[in-house]
Amino acid sequence: MIMAFKQAHARISRLDRTLMMVVVLLSSIFPVELFSNTVPAPKGVDGQYSGKQGQVLVVKVKGEDQATEVKGTFLKRTIPFFREFRPGEPAGYVGLLGIDMQDEPGTYELAVEVKQGEKAKQLSFNILVAKENFLVEHLTLPKEKVDLDEKGAARWKAEQEQVKQALAENSRLKLWHSNFVEPVNGKRTGIFGSVRIMNGKPRNPHNGEDIGAPLGADVAATNDGIVRITVDHIFSGKGVFVDHGLGFYTMYFHLSDILVKDGDLVTAGQIIGKVGATGRATGPHLHWGVKLNGARVNPYSLLDLPFKNGSSPEKTGTAPVSEAMSAP
Ligand SMILES: [Zn+2]
Repeated sequence: MIMAFKQAHARISRLDRTLMMVVVLLSSIFPVELFSNTVPAPKGVDGQYSGKQGQVLVVKVKGEDQATEVKGTFLKRTIPFFREFRPGEPAGYVGLLGIDMQDEPGTYELAVEVKQGEKAKQLSFNILVAKENFLVEHLTLPKEKVDLDEKGAARWKAEQEQVKQALAENSRLKLWHSNFVEPVNGKRTGIFGSVRIMNGKPRNPHNGEDIGAPLGADVAATNDGIVRITVDHIFSGKGVFVDHGLGFYTMYFHLSDILVKDGDLVTAGQIIGKVGATGRATGPHLHWGVKLNGARVNPYSLLDLPFKNGSSPEKTGTAPVSEAMSAP
């Protein structure tokens, strides 16, 4: 048994080495380079790149030349790229590709268009979406918090519409400059993407991360941005939506207090509210959500993005213009 195991192990190691060499070779050939955040993105077998449901991939297009626009399309979502300079790295454009928590596992094309004046160059790459094993959560809540009556249902619908309208327009400039910070010091529950069974009935999966913290604890903006809308909604309670530009939003729900107003500019780490239990909540916690070009991604993947320690924002401050993103 032990021998057999050892042999199998040796085979895997050889395969790993071969794969690594293939990846190294491919990345020197292809103009598009992808690297993931946290857990090093598992590389697919034939040089494809991959990430799990809910992860963020950083896509880099190398190029010294200043492009007029660099834009990617992935599963009908538009990924605006922005110019980035990093010491010791070739110049290029970076796009943040969010894999939605419910994107079906499989291989999909990321088509990137690099426009230079009248000319346009097309790049294509395969992205392998891998399955994440989300938890299954059983929750018991007061009936009226789960099943809305007619009035509640109408209110919920109107609130959805209000958010959709508010987020239909987003900043065409990249507003964040520094690393991302955790909005509250607390206990991560690790339930992003969990399948929720409420009072015995399956509901929508959990589209953010809940962080347990005492009532009234400070809630900070994860990065620079503009407060797009503040709400007091039936499910999310008192909430803040921050627009970080280029189709990138973060959300902070169930607050006891909101300390910012619609249209306020906020900076990374600025206190925007206090932890509460408003809306559909069983106790004080922060629901932290992220929407990246329409994809619902794990907010903790932001903390691992390689923007730490001074990836310098472009001095001119002009990000490539992108199409206005579709509503969440
Ligand atoms: Zn939540």
